[in-house]
Amino acid sequence: MAATLIDGKAFAAKVRGQVAEHVARLKEQNGITPGLAVVLVGEDPASQVYVRSKGKQTVEVGMNSYEHKLEADTSEADLLALIDQLNNDPSVHGILVQLPLPKHLDEDLVINSIAPEKDVDGFHISNVGLLGTGQKSMVPCTPLGCLMMLRDHHGSLSGMDAVVIGRSNIVGKPMAQLLLGDSCTVTIAHSRTKDLPDVVRRADIVVAAVGRPEMVPGDWIKEGATVIDVGINRIERDGKNVLVGDVDFASAAERAGAITPVPGGVGPMTIACLLANTVTACCRANNLAEPEGLTA
Ligand code: NAD
Repeated sequence: MAATLIDGKAFAAKVRGQVAEHVARLKEQNGITPGLAVVLVGEDPASQVYVRSKGKQTVEVGMNSYEHKLEADTSEADLLALIDQLNNDPSVHGILVQLPLPKHLDEDLVINSIAPEKDVDGFHISNVGLLGTGQKSMVPCTPLGCLMMLRDHHGSLSGMDAVVIGRSNIVGKPMAQLLLGDSCTVTIAHSRTKDLPDVVRRADIVVAAVGRPEMVPGDWIKEGATVIDVGINRIERDGKNVLVGDVDFASAAERAGAITPVPGGVGPMTIACLLANTVTACCRANNLAEPEGLTA
């Protein structure tokens, strides 16, 4: 393997350490404990695992974790009433509604009912608009984690050619906005892109966020490019259930300058950035200095 491995697990531990230090300072100097409320509707097994992990890590960095588990058939009115209560609760600085929601609930309506300043997922339409216009916002956690790793590896990203594969609202689009904000020349590729290999071959930075196992082979990667693999795909290999990314790691690592592995790359950064967003939201709510390096 020629590429430098970008260790998301170690990086996430560092971010959590910075968050914990800031939380300790807020408690000591200001008597404030940041609080994160996570709302889970229904019993989707993957969502239950995520929520448990978020709650555990929230407590580990010294913040308060408030978990709200609602029945799968909860009405929209009851869910909106809970969000309204959390919006008005001064001990709650961040609110996250675990997606996907059961089909009878309108996801856009629910997300847009969260107070934008408490929207630590950065999905509220106001935060999307603020990010798009280069203003201070809550930034979606997964792309924020990717940006932190890229900045850490390169220093400045200015003038680099970046290709984001995938145009989802939670990863692809905000990732492209963040790279644009750091003065990259950005191409967003998607399922209708003509000649994807050619587009990817021009990139100094490739962010793959598609959800198709190992769809980007090494010979698409420009020599020395940085590859950030957001994909999480579970496949059967040699009779075992394994996790792979959207990039064929072995062949891409032969050509890339740096690459994130799956697992242990982008994944661990996502929750670390959720904690970072919560402490940022708490500081903003109290007109206090924000922790440095934990926002876009
Ligand atoms: P999505 O399904 O919402 O979007 C996928 C995007 O890929 C779409 O915009 C589509 O146009 C594009 N696409 C589909 N087929 C394509 C093709 N053949 N060529 C080029 N583009 C194609 O997915 P998402 O929510 O953005 O997630 C993408 C992946 O990232 C998934 O594997 C998901 O599990 C993973 N993910 C990881 C984290 C993390 O914390 N690491 C967080 C969110 C998502």
